[in-house]
Amino acid sequence: MKSKDEILEKLKEKEVKITPQRIAIIDYLIKNPIHPTAENVYIAVSKKHPNISLATVYNTLEKLEAINEIIKLKMPCNNKIHFEYNLKPHSHFYCKECHKLLDIWDAPNIWPDDKRIAGHQIEEANLCYKGICKDCLKNTKKSEIAT
Ligand SMILES: [Zn+2]
Ligand SMILES: [Zn+2]
Repeated sequence: MKSKDEILEKLKEKEVKITPQRIAIIDYLIKNPIHPTAENVYIAVSKKHPNISLATVYNTLEKLEAINEIIKLKMPCNNKIHFEYNLKPHSHFYCKECHKLLDIWDAPNIWPDDKRIAGHQIEEANLCYKGICKDCLKNTKKSEIAT
């Protein structure tokens, strides 16, 4: 993961115009490593930058993906597209109760060390478990006791 300045430097090299909106998007991604969707980023950033458009958010996310600073995750478990700032390979857990998408670091490794499988070279691997997260499990237990 790179710092904001390093990312801005890389964007400048690609002759991407650095605007306050773009900086705000990068800030949000760094401070909120929660796999936001483009809509999530738009809602958060538009609080400070009411003039920002959803198109600018999409466009900036595409540019960050093009310089390999974020990954676009097409999640099979909720059919949404999330943006991931943490580039270390890991798996995900999607909670169908609270709709959170959580990072799973100790799941069976779906990335072989040499990034090859049956002679093919892997560029993307995307494992998403679906179920009920531990917080929601706790809450259901509590409500069972209360009733
Ligand atoms: Zn949950
Ligand atoms: Zn993740």
